[in-house]
Amino acid sequence: MPEIIAGLKLSEGIGFGSIFISERADIEASNREIDAGQIEEEISAYKESIQAAHIQLRKLRENVDEHLDEDSAAIFDAHIMMLDDPGFNEQIINSINNLNNAEKAIQLAGEVYITKFESLDSEYMKARALDVKDICMRLIANVQGVQLTDLTRVDEPVVVVADELTPSASAQLDSKYIKGIITATGGMTSHSAIIARSLNIPAISGIPDILSKVTHGDDIIIDGFTGDIVLSPTEVEMAAYSEKLKAQEEREEKLKDFIGKETKTLDGINISLYANIKGPEDLNDVSSNDAEGIGLYRTEFLYMNRMNLPSEEEQFEAYKAVLSDMDDKPVIIRTLDIGGDKELSYLNLPKESNPFLGERSIRFLLKNEEIFKTQLRALVRASEHGNLKVMFPMVTTIDEFNRAKALLIEEKEKYEAEIGKELNEIAAGIMVETPSAAMISDQLAKHVDFFSIGSNDLIQYTMAADRLNEQVSDLYQTYHPSVLGLIKKVIDSGRNNNKWVGICGEMACDHKSIALLTGFGIDELSVSPKKILGIREYISEIKKTDMEQLSESVLSCDSAEDVLYLIEEHLNLT
Ligand code: PEP
Ligand code: MG
Repeated sequence: MPEIIAGLKLSEGIGFGSIFISERADIEASNREIDAGQIEEEISAYKESIQAAHIQLRKLRENVDEHLDEDSAAIFDAHIMMLDDPGFNEQIINSINNLNNAEKAIQLAGEVYITKFESLDSEYMKARALDVKDICMRLIANVQGVQLTDLTRVDEPVVVVADELTPSASAQLDSKYIKGIITATGGMTSHSAIIARSLNIPAISGIPDILSKVTHGDDIIIDGFTGDIVLSPTEVEMAAYSEKLKAQEEREEKLKDFIGKETKTLDGINISLYANIKGPEDLNDVSSNDAEGIGLYRTEFLYMNRMNLPSEEEQFEAYKAVLSDMDDKPVIIRTLDIGGDKELSYLNLPKESNPFLGERSIRFLLKNEEIFKTQLRALVRASEHGNLKVMFPMVTTIDEFNRAKALLIEEKEKYEAEIGKELNEIAAGIMVETPSAAMISDQLAKHVDFFSIGSNDLIQYTMAADRLNEQVSDLYQTYHPSVLGLIKKVIDSGRNNNKWVGICGEMACDHKSIALLTGFGIDELSVSPKKILGIREYISEIKKTDMEQLSESVLSCDSAEDVLYLIEEHLNLT
């Protein structure tokens, strides 16, 4: 009998295959006792396991780099760095000197790091505990002479099922044979989710007892659109899902007609359609989906998943890669946006009781000028290679913007003096993510070159509802009249001062909000690259004048429900 199980959707798509159970290799440190005479032997066993891990990880990195993308390959860099971490090594050697065998010493040191990562509030950092587990498992396996599961050997269509997919296993995923991923645990920011999305492999998690429900080799269907999996599907189900897959593929094919076209409403109004990226690894998707520019480069990813700050040179190379690849198209690079849910553990920053209201984003950068200046200098240098615009996140006061801009100019002038020539102007704008910035947008518009509305944060700060806290998710209301009123105010302020206004939060992807934003007069939308063509198609079907009437009426609604009702009625969705 077929069985349908619902999970949490992490990556869209439909996949068919046989179940491939990728159990965490059952590797545990043994309790072998050692005496003082064996210490040297254990230390050399540990050192050999490190050497072997270096070789294995380099080889995996090469394989993955060749067949997959740089993002996946970078996971192994983080692991290699962990192998070289002096603190980690010292703890293990000390532990062996205290008469723990090499495997036990690795496990104990790993547990210290895992507990540290797991205790952090951020889902992203919690997910990094998995990297430590992964690397410790590899080291223990090496001491024991055991081989780990190798997904690169799979040569038929499979859906991988695992308790949780280790980062190194995730990095071996190849969409040629891996048609889906189902895990018991793991959220949107887990490695497997990030990689699955970048490879277009459907992925679902949040099914705690999944391993007890499936049998290796049985047929399975995974539907990443709904979050459903179908165990032992019947012919009827196979046919229905094949139809759904075909329809999806046909739709994607049809959307390719919009490549090379302008993004224009039926009544001829152009809206710029840009892409959100997290680094040069997303550039393929940017060009294959014909983005007209980069509207948000989230540079914090360059600072994460590592043990120290990226150097100026490293940053320069990343920014230059993006700018030169985009030719003359605009590239909006956001300066480091950490704090809140994005932590950098290696900075050992004091814990805050309200991190989203604490020293995050621009506040952090203005207090840590050296870190800020290094990034600004890398940006200034990279500006020679394309059409750079710099964007400061989470601004609440005009003073913050002016101080940030002054530092940008200072770094630019210093660099110009060094190279003996003047560079082009670098436009400087802000993300409007706080009600404060939205309320004074008319005054701010006199200082900035552009606004980009960060609706993800603007909603949480306007509604006072933590964007990550499920307990208050009902209050996180995109369509609340207060949120829409602030957005309208920002767009009006931009227009009155001849400054363009874009939006780069998730709201820019949703057709209903695109209808409203078009009516408000938004100039630019920045979205995940894979959403671009569908949005270009949608905009080509609506009229700005028509949406203006709608936008006007939603502002006097009493509630988000009323707004949604009006939109749906206006768009004939009811
Ligand atoms: C936002 O807040 O809308 C935004 C785009 O920034 P992030 O999601 O990175 O906070
Ligand atoms: Mg934000």
